[in-house]
Amino acid sequence: MNSAMARSWITTLASALEEQTDYLTQLDSAIGDADHGANMRRGFAAAVAAVEGSSAETPGDVLIKAGTTLISKVGGASGPLYGSAFRAMGKELRDPIATGEQLRAALAEGLAAVQRLGTAAPGDKTMVDAYAPALAAFEQELRNGATPATAAARAADAAEEGMRATTSLQARKGRASYLGARSVGHQDPGATSTAMMFRALARVMAAP
Ligand code: ADP
Ligand code: MG
Repeated sequence: MNSAMARSWITTLASALEEQTDYLTQLDSAIGDADHGANMRRGFAAAVAAVEGSSAETPGDVLIKAGTTLISKVGGASGPLYGSAFRAMGKELRDPIATGEQLRAALAEGLAAVQRLGTAAPGDKTMVDAYAPALAAFEQELRNGATPATAAARAADAAEEGMRATTSLQARKGRASYLGARSVGHQDPGATSTAMMFRALARVMAAP
């Protein structure tokens, strides 16, 4: 991954979020406060503006810029969580071109940042339930000798599977946890946007 691909990851994700704003808002209105679509759309639109105007030379610089923008523009839980994830990923990508192994390390740091900040474990019905299986799939594919593009595609599949599996979970973190057992039966909005993040990465890796 180079800096152009990192920019493209942010812009591809931003347009997917723009298209799915209403869907994410619907999901968040069932078990939250109906702002996840707007939070993500606003945050990533600002991130696109920030990375498009920058002369960042490494993929890490691009992702750090995007992350910093998300933290400053999004008030909800998701802004600091995604912002910290992108900043942590960026810190791992300091070479002009990242290898598959460096991208793996970056994705792992992103998840670690989300979990440090939000203290959610798998099964708590959060972003982590899409992110953790996606990272595991990415790692397994690389170990099996797959290209980073194939690993990213399988990671996106795993993220979507994890996203769908949040429906039957009871939330233990975030606003949805206030609903207790009533949070069961609804797909988690943050796991849904995280699956979109991995699908955007897969698209960019497949056709940079
Ligand atoms: P808010 O909950 O402040 O309104 P958003 O609606 O933008 O923020 O985001 C909600 C999503 O954030 C949830 O669906 C969940 O996936 C994620 N989330 C909330 N709290 C946590 C946490 N502690 N750890 C990980 N993810 C979380
Ligand atoms: Mg919300």
